[in-house]
Amino acid sequence: MRTIARSREPSPERARYTYQNPDLIDPELKCPICFEPLLDPVVMGCCKNTLCRQCFFVDSKECYLCRQDPTPLQDPPRLVHSMLSRIMVKCSSCLLVMPRDEFRAHLHNVCPIDCPNGCPITQTRSSLSNHDQFCLAKVIPCLANDVGCPFKGTRETMDTHIQNCFFVPQRLLLLKISQLEEQQQIQQLAIEQLQRASRKYRMIWKTQPNTSRVHFILRGYHFRVQFQRKGEKFGVYLHVIPGKKDADLPWPVQSTFSVQVLNQLRDADHQRVFSFQTGQHPLNFSRPVGNDLGRGWSGVIENVPALKPEFCVDQMVVLLLKLKLTSHLI
Ligand SMILES: [Zn+2]
Ligand SMILES: [Zn+2]
Ligand SMILES: [Zn+2]
Ligand SMILES: [Zn+2]
Ligand SMILES: [Zn+2]
Repeated sequence: MRTIARSREPSPERARYTYQNPDLIDPELKCPICFEPLLDPVVMGCCKNTLCRQCFFVDSKECYLCRQDPTPLQDPPRLVHSMLSRIMVKCSSCLLVMPRDEFRAHLHNVCPIDCPNGCPITQTRSSLSNHDQFCLAKVIPCLANDVGCPFKGTRETMDTHIQNCFFVPQRLLLLKISQLEEQQQIQQLAIEQLQRASRKYRMIWKTQPNTSRVHFILRGYHFRVQFQRKGEKFGVYLHVIPGKKDADLPWPVQSTFSVQVLNQLRDADHQRVFSFQTGQHPLNFSRPVGNDLGRGWSGVIENVPALKPEFCVDQMVVLLLKLKLTSHLI
């Protein structure tokens, strides 16, 4: 037999019905403490008497009947449950008679109650909260309550009030203003973020000496660098390509761009550098339009024996890309 967890949960339904024929109920089905038909019955572990769960908690340390420890409590036989569930009860509110185990569903879903707002539509307990959202007799505040309208009235009178309310048109205006303020704050944040962003881009790029590309964004400008071996030399190409923020950026891009092919064996004095200022080629670094990806500037890194071991180790070259914006940025 399984033991039962303790519970102090009272039955909210109990006060809402009476027993139809209390004298005809089998005394075996009644609780020896409250003398009512058993409700949520439990069997005492000590003397095997059956009580309502609630009645057991009146004095739970020792059995009310035999003074011994009543734990662990046990579940009564299924037969007891089914006999109890068939006892007839009468709803104190609508006087309907039904088996006791149907009473809870009756109370919530069938038994009629008046609308607490006083409208003539009869409700059940389960439909009440839904009805409340539409009940015409419900007293609600004016929708401009948040901007100072003190009016409260039934839902039925609200339409007329809103048409004449001084605060409602103000509220729409205030809402519009606060929306605009919010948008402005978002824009301000974006600007501050841009201002905090670095003006410099630096990248160590390990790549094969044949054609390869890298793409990066600096303060909203989209750049693409192409690197290519041309016989014994290296070619470098810098593109500015269309980006989402182009409309807000100053053009042409003013920047210093350089590519250094790192000497992988010797010291820093033997690096080979190629660099230029984008501002010196204003047409090529003005705002790109549509599919205009052809503009930019290219150059050849001289004096780099492209495949010699100091520049090309395991078929890889190492490049240092640097781009520093000098445009007047917000
Ligand atoms: Zn009892
Ligand atoms: Zn006992
Ligand atoms: Zn009822
Ligand atoms: Zn109502
Ligand atoms: Zn109002």
